[in-house]
Amino acid sequence: MNSSSIKWLEKYSKDNIVIKAYEFAKEAHKNDLRKTGDPFVVHCLEVARTVERWGLDEATIVAALLHDVVEDTSYTLKDIKDNFGKEIAFLVDGLTKVESLQYTGNKGQAENMRKLMIVISEDLRVIFIKLSDRWHNMKTLGVFREEKQKRIAKETTEIYAPLAYRLGMQWLSGELEDLAFPYIHPQEYKWLIKTVDAHFKERQKYAEKVKPKIAKILKKNNIEPVKIDARAKRYSSLYKKLLRYDMNLDKVHDLVALRIIVKTIEDCYAVLGMIHKEWPPLPGRVKDYIALPKPNGYRSLHTTVFCVNDKITEFQIRTEEMHEEAEMGAAAHWAYQQTKGTKTYFKNKSQKANEKDIAWIKQLNNWSKNFEDSEKFMQSLKVDFFKDRIFVVTPEHDVVDLPAGATPIDFAYRIHTEIGNQCSGAKVNGNIVPLDYELRSGDIVDIMTQRGKKPSESWLEFVKTSMAKERIKSSMRKKSSTFKKRLSKPNVTIKIITEDRSGLIKDVSSVFSELKVNIININSQRNHDSSFHNVSVKCGFLNQKKIEKILVKIRKIKEIKEVSFSYDN
Ligand code: MN
Repeated sequence: MNSSSIKWLEKYSKDNIVIKAYEFAKEAHKNDLRKTGDPFVVHCLEVARTVERWGLDEATIVAALLHDVVEDTSYTLKDIKDNFGKEIAFLVDGLTKVESLQYTGNKGQAENMRKLMIVISEDLRVIFIKLSDRWHNMKTLGVFREEKQKRIAKETTEIYAPLAYRLGMQWLSGELEDLAFPYIHPQEYKWLIKTVDAHFKERQKYAEKVKPKIAKILKKNNIEPVKIDARAKRYSSLYKKLLRYDMNLDKVHDLVALRIIVKTIEDCYAVLGMIHKEWPPLPGRVKDYIALPKPNGYRSLHTTVFCVNDKITEFQIRTEEMHEEAEMGAAAHWAYQQTKGTKTYFKNKSQKANEKDIAWIKQLNNWSKNFEDSEKFMQSLKVDFFKDRIFVVTPEHDVVDLPAGATPIDFAYRIHTEIGNQCSGAKVNGNIVPLDYELRSGDIVDIMTQRGKKPSESWLEFVKTSMAKERIKSSMRKKSSTFKKRLSKPNVTIKIITEDRSGLIKDVSSVFSELKVNIININSQRNHDSSFHNVSVKCGFLNQKKIEKILVKIRKIKEIKEVSFSYDN
């Protein structure tokens, strides 16, 4: 085992719950190796170390250590609860549920993933652990076979990187995209490395030259920066930008940008002024994300100037706090609230949930804009916002949302009318439950059906959705009307539109006698505004085959324009 994986545990005393969780995970995964050849627990340690670095609380660190125990070992959620308590079991359970969802790249499934994430976001810590888990998996993706690499990389760029971005975790989002990029676009990646490398080096050298100049300017104006550094643009975002600029590297001005971190907001604006005084800015390139933060909360000042040797150079100016937020986003907020004296998550849930929800709703608002059916999405959010809806999962990992209190019957009708009608029993999370069982978010529901089975009237007493109610009632109506029909089958009327001629009625009636069909009555009427006649022939009940034979034969009669039929009620 790489000793750095475990070194961070040294600060915990032996009887600390983090150490206990580590020992537990080590024991649970003792027979498992990762594809990398490492003992599996190394993965748990890495995931936990990341959330610890993000400043998250002990419960999150413990849950991170245990995050794969229920999914991958013989230990159960109950074991977790018995050993580590309710809060940690809740977090681990959430992670197990996300884990069991598979992403196949189709749109519906992405939608499902999103829905389930919303549910799990009842506690953002689940998402933080999930993102940390994904990050580590991406870092070790090289050992898997190509097909799996592609699938995971795609899922990462399509779901986890945007999710991190929308949570304001800009740095992690970029990191995930960069890790996925070579697997998704191997050729482009190779080209980029080859082409950009020289440019990068040149720009880096240039940035090193500019740095002391900036430092001097700041010093002259009595501003002491926290840090000035040069940051190279990520390959993945550079590639995206190049696609918009005809693959012309000269048009990309932030290949290497200079980042100035200062102590206060006033300093940010002061520094911006100093830079503009020294070097003329490119018009339209000054962006004040402090006054107008990006939708994900990102704050910073950006400007692009004709810098030393007239080279176009981008600067980013921000405070330490903004910097931390830009890197860590929601996780930073969360950690910050922790240190403000909130003791545990659950004890202060209502108070905390409020502040959190506001930020989260804001995120979701922005997030939903990127979805085609955002209107629908927002509507369901506004009406239900997690409280009155539950999200359950099919054995195929599709997510179905239902009102709170919904039963397996509601679920069955939501899947398909016939599954509802023929429902004979239900399993929830593998256990047989009564049909009036109250489903809960995250439940995996499996409906058993029996051919020819009909819905029971008693279901109406407990189903929650109007859809299920309607379908049950309509099935009952059908049952009674088929019963009536068996007693009295409907008569058939053949309707003919024709030009009148002598012998027509005889020709028509001979078709019926040929086919041995009794005529109840025959009626011929002149259409008032044309020379056509409407002829209708009423017979007893006929089967479809017989009717078709009649229609075919009548169509062959001279002067017939149109033939149709109807059942009399
Ligand atoms: Mn994992």
